[in-house]
Amino acid sequence: MSKLNLVLFGPPGAGKGTQSTFLIEKFGLIHLSTGDLLRGEIASKTELGLKAKELMDQGKLVPDEVVIGMIKNKLASNPDAKGFIFDGFPRTTAQAEALDALLADNNDSISAMLALEVGVEELKKRLLERGKVSGRPDDQNLDIIAQRISEYNNKTAPLKAFYEKQNKLHTIEGVGTVESISNTLSESISKL
Ligand code: AMP
Repeated sequence: MSKLNLVLFGPPGAGKGTQSTFLIEKFGLIHLSTGDLLRGEIASKTELGLKAKELMDQGKLVPDEVVIGMIKNKLASNPDAKGFIFDGFPRTTAQAEALDALLADNNDSISAMLALEVGVEELKKRLLERGKVSGRPDDQNLDIIAQRISEYNNKTAPLKAFYEKQNKLHTIEGVGTVESISNTLSESISKL
């Protein structure tokens, strides 16, 4: 049976992490968040973590080869997974191309991109709220939040066209109750 590999997409604050928690339960998938993996490296004070932290604290993307290497390791260490939710990855065209190639090595592919759409003022409000409890320095400063949104617009948003060309793009309104958005996502996935 082919695997269910989903790219959960959207700007910072769109609700990717929240919805991933629900989707991994419902569909039995493994959650791969490059942001979480990087924060794990920072917490363990690895060399990679220390280098990544400098960029993350400025709201800038870390180099492609760093996150591609992390994803490659995780795919290799979970050969029997029913599928994966990619959260916060890919974020550049080079990452999307690398992901396609890594999956193709196992005769596998991305099933769909689910793109959550949320307006910029709502994103800023949500991120500042999250900053009060997340302890994430990049959620606590409006200039850094603006920098992250600008990285998203310049480097990441073009990936919608990348997956649209493959007929895999599904856009989903990311404003509403958590539950209503979960339901819409589930419906889209069930139709795949
Ligand atoms: P996130 O938890 O997805 O909001 O990511 C937090 C930060 O980690 C981002 O602002 C980037 O600095 C870095 N990061 C996470 N995922 C990636 C990625 N796929 N490519 C480059 N940088 C990333």
